[in-house]
Amino acid sequence: MKQYIDLRSDTVTRPTPGMREAMARAEVGDDVFGDDPSVNRLQERLAQQLGFEAGLLFPSGTQCNLAALMAHCGRGDEFLVGQDAHTYVHEGGGAAVLGSIQPQPLEHEPDGTLSLARIEAAIKPREDYYARTRLLALENTIGGKVLPRGYAKEATALAHRHGLATHLDGARLFNAAVKQQLDARELVTGFDSVSVCLSKGLGAPIGSVLVGPAELVREAKRWRKVLGGGMRQAGIVAAAGLYALEHHVARLADDHRNALALAEGLRGLPGLTVELPETNIVWVDAAPPLASRLVPALAEQGVLATGTGKIRFVTHLDVSAADVTATIAAVRAIVESS
Ligand SMILES: *Cc1c(COP(=O)(O)O)cnc(C)c1O
Repeated sequence: MKQYIDLRSDTVTRPTPGMREAMARAEVGDDVFGDDPSVNRLQERLAQQLGFEAGLLFPSGTQCNLAALMAHCGRGDEFLVGQDAHTYVHEGGGAAVLGSIQPQPLEHEPDGTLSLARIEAAIKPREDYYARTRLLALENTIGGKVLPRGYAKEATALAHRHGLATHLDGARLFNAAVKQQLDARELVTGFDSVSVCLSKGLGAPIGSVLVGPAELVREAKRWRKVLGGGMRQAGIVAAAGLYALEHHVARLADDHRNALALAEGLRGLPGLTVELPETNIVWVDAAPPLASRLVPALAEQGVLATGTGKIRFVTHLDVSAADVTATIAAVRAIVESS
């Protein structure tokens, strides 16, 4: 098989030999009965690490967020969410389709936050003709940007003052924590629930974990079953997650360094506007005619990225510094020949 440098997403990582070994050795049981010791260990570990009562493993981040939204909100309720947030844009409208929950999307500020004024203005008065605003959902990192220090505390405090619950889509929470050199626990203070992906930069093949108060997690567990997400000997998956939390968190700094090196290498090439990344996602604006040509031309050279016009390169566990150098050379060759 042709060897690609795959920068489409940090989901493309393959389990390392150490992770496969941990999966092979995993103690398992039937998790629908609550019998799987590895699943229980993972759930407890992450809940404890992030300062919550309980945790719950899901097959995907999409299902994890949806069950959380359904645990927080009922039929006819509404959640406030960023216009570009994964829970609004990239989850098939699940909250509305399956949860009867109306999203109220809000414009982002350039740093990825939702302004407090905008949040406050969007909270609907309690009148029969409005949906009931129930929840504020934020995301960190968002598009690779880290929410500024202190922002989450202010936004969640505002939400709580108005009687709203708060959920954090922390698919890449550990990227944010490593970037800010803070304990992940500090980044989630003020949130009633948090979802974390094990299958992104952490390099596990499958899995997301929801953490929150025991009662909310119990409710989410019921919705997980309804959504078809009750798994049996899921300890094989949980073992990979535990391994990832043990071995793949600190090294996220390598991905951030590689992303920065990539951005710096692409800066100054004609026709490209490159944002310096905060974490592991590099956004490159390509002017026409390069806009539609760059991604397919790169694929011919064995480098995979996504997007037209606004192109996304994501670094991860399976991308080395040498891969970054090769990618810069491939882009340069395409730019110079067009
Ligand atoms: C990847 C991701 C998810 C969950 O995605 P799944 O592919 O369903 O695991 C949720 N939120 C964000 C921000 C993500 O990047």
